[in-house]
Amino acid sequence: MVWYCCVPNCKPPKQGEKVFIMRMLPIRDPERYKIWINRIGNSDLKNCEDLKEAYKKYRVCERHFSSHCIITGEKQIKRDSLLTLHLPSFHEESSRENSLFRFFKKKQQETNIAVKDFASLPEPSNVPDLEIDIQTSTLCPTNLGKTGLMGNCT
Ligand SMILES: [Zn+2]
Repeated sequence: MVWYCCVPNCKPPKQGEKVFIMRMLPIRDPERYKIWINRIGNSDLKNCEDLKEAYKKYRVCERHFSSHCIITGEKQIKRDSLLTLHLPSFHEESSRENSLFRFFKKKQQETNIAVKDFASLPEPSNVPDLEIDIQTSTLCPTNLGKTGLMGNCT
């Protein structure tokens, strides 16, 4: 059985080139599975609701995993690896945080906490509405029609 990578436009190795190792989808880990599916960007796979079928039918080649996922001297990649490379719908630079789920999750939690803290701040009550003093503002009368408030006055 010859496997093809399910990432759109991912080319199989040419004859004589090193054969890519194919990875199975992490169907037992729903959170990680969802990230994989989104990053792979294959709409057939996205619409495939039967996880077992997806597991049987789809593979991802090793080109999509950064050095953060590699275990030196082994064919296996780290268990919580996420794809980051050569993906049509994912263009972030590979970091520990987007290549390995444990760090991804940690960062996500930190971000959530930060957002929650911000939301729970009391509404400012004694702050007056912003007033604009035409004399001291950066309005530029000659350019106003064209460029608006932040017009270049030189
Ligand atoms: Zn591939």
